[in-house]
Amino acid sequence: MERKSVVGGVCTNAYYQTEVPYVYAVGDVIGFPSLVSVSMEQGRLAACHAYGVPTQSVSELFPYGIYTIPEISTVGKNEEELTQDGVPYEIGKAQYREIARGQIIGDEQGTLKLIFHMDTRELLGVDIIGTGASELIHIGQAVMAFGGTVDYFVNTVFNYPTLAECYETAAFNGINRLGSLPALEPKLKPPQEVGVIV
Ligand SMILES: Cc1cc2nc3c(=O)[nH]c(=O)nc-3n(C[C@H](O)[C@H](O)[C@H](O)COP(=O)(O)OP(=O)(O)OC[C@H]3O[C@@H](n4cnc5c(N)ncnc54)[C@H](O)[C@@H]3O)c2cc1C
Repeated sequence: MERKSVVGGVCTNAYYQTEVPYVYAVGDVIGFPSLVSVSMEQGRLAACHAYGVPTQSVSELFPYGIYTIPEISTVGKNEEELTQDGVPYEIGKAQYREIARGQIIGDEQGTLKLIFHMDTRELLGVDIIGTGASELIHIGQAVMAFGGTVDYFVNTVFNYPTLAECYETAAFNGINRLGSLPALEPKLKPPQEVGVIV
């Protein structure tokens, strides 16, 4: 598979080999996304390939962080991509100001958005704008990596007061948008029958 590169950049195949197979290229020199994290991962994959070490990488779960004020971070698919692909999805939103930690730090603008499959409820993407966005995004990234659904955030207890609680609030918001009560699959073991000691 040929990777497209920026104008004037180096073209590589999926293993980061250039036209000269024993010369690899990674990082900014091959173009998008030009991030430290991704450049390092490309370097790891190139080195593994060069030395025949089996490995794998989940490029669709690379997170993006933009260190502006407010901070911005995303992982997975966005709404535009899902619409283009014809994937039925729903979103759930939480405002930082709804969360105790958001009120404590005075972030009035922060927003976390979950994007999940309308039928399977699998988490497909997370967008965050606000304080700590590039840290918070890794919770969604981990859930996506394990194929989790939006219900995970409903069933989970988050520390209080933390911004991570936005995930739970956004999950409730998303499930409400579906217009039905959550069909939660119980993850917990049913209560064991208890023997009575007489
Ligand atoms: C202002 C700024 C802020 C950024 N902030 C972030 C951020 O917050 N997070 C993030 O993920 N990414 C950020 N990036 C992008 C990130 O820095 C790059 O994507 C990353 O450094 C690319 O790594 P690289 O190894 O490809 O290139 P580089 O880190 O640029 O390394 C290339 C090295 O090659 C050396 N070199 C160049 N020519 C020669 C030569 N002829 N001979 C020998 N050595 C040479 C250079 O001196 C340099 O040390 C930022 C970039 C900029 C410009």
